Amino acid sequence: MATGIHFFDLKNNTRIPSVGLGTWQSEPGLVGQAVYAAVKVGYRHIDCAQIYGNEKEIGVALKKLFDEGVVQRDDLWITSKLWCNNHAPEDVPVSLGNTLKDLQLDYLNLYLIHWPARTKKGTSGFGNMIPTDIPATWKAMEACHDNGMTRGLGVSNFSSKKLGDLLKVARIPPIVNQVECHPSWQQTKLREFCKSNGVHLSGYSPLGSPGTKWLKSNVLQHPILTSVAEKVGKTPAQVALRWGLQMGHSVLPKSTNEARIKENFDVFDWSIPDDLFAEMSKIEQARLVRGEFLVNDSSGAYKSVEELWDGEI
Ligand code: NAP
Repeated sequence: MATGIHFFDLKNNTRIPSVGLGTWQSEPGLVGQAVYAAVKVGYRHIDCAQIYGNEKEIGVALKKLFDEGVVQRDDLWITSKLWCNNHAPEDVPVSLGNTLKDLQLDYLNLYLIHWPARTKKGTSGFGNMIPTDIPATWKAMEACHDNGMTRGLGVSNFSSKKLGDLLKVARIPPIVNQVECHPSWQQTKLREFCKSNGVHLSGYSPLGSPGTKWLKSNVLQHPILTSVAEKVGKTPAQVALRWGLQMGHSVLPKSTNEARIKENFDVFDWSIPDDLFAEMSKIEQARLVRGEFLVNDSSGAYKSVEELWDGEI
């Protein structure tokens, strides 16, 4: 097993840095310094989204990093995501334009459809769902790729079925599907589908999102994970992240704590030996983010969690 794994090659001849800093629930006043610290530590990939409400502060941190010559724009991989209330084709370039303005960037490396779900323009939350038209939204995303606002396109929270449907109509294929992935939700089926279709899987909540109150997460306490961690002399978080790299997907750990930002990046000069790696496939599987918030009776909403994930639950 090669220890490095700093990048994964993508279908559009770019390389995505394998460890990206997550920024969901990174609070105002903390997210900027987290991004600044992470890039100084060596992170070259930041995972953003308009809905996280913190892109402006991230933009200020990025500008500081560029002004101080810590990195140049081309050294970084910046992802952001189109929120559900901006799926209308005419709203896509406006939303991406706002993200670029907030991040103080000329282009993104990757722009994702955040969820295969659509809400009425101008509304917040999921109370006003309307039917999606992913092919139309994707066309507008492709136009943003054509005009250079983003160098890559992708999706998030797409099942194999939804990804397959998009691949059938896309002129510019999605290069990434960003989905929940950690040792307790290994995405075996979706991983195979992505692999055979040249779509890179990027793992969100790679630590099981322990800080999210509404999720019952104990991924980092699983006895197999803690025993592997003990045997390799690393923390459970490091083993969870390293497991992701060895599985072949990028990981997006969120932290606003400098010590943990460093800890989460110390995953390159060691590896999980084959026998312990195989042990980790025995961990019981359960999705944390089931997406019940997208299931209701209104038109456009999913009728069940099964329908949202097309049975991949
Ligand atoms: P996560 O990265 O799995 O976990 C983050 C939590 O773990 C925070 O509470 C953090 O607290 C704590 N933590 C960080 N490093 C740790 C360590 N070494 N040991 C113990 N605890 C540690 O969860 P996530 O934020 O849900 O997912 C990561 C990123 O994926 C998000 O930030 C976002 O960018 C992306 N994401 C995308 C979607 C989507 O729909 N596309 C959904 C969810 C997440 P501190 O900050 O205090 O360290």
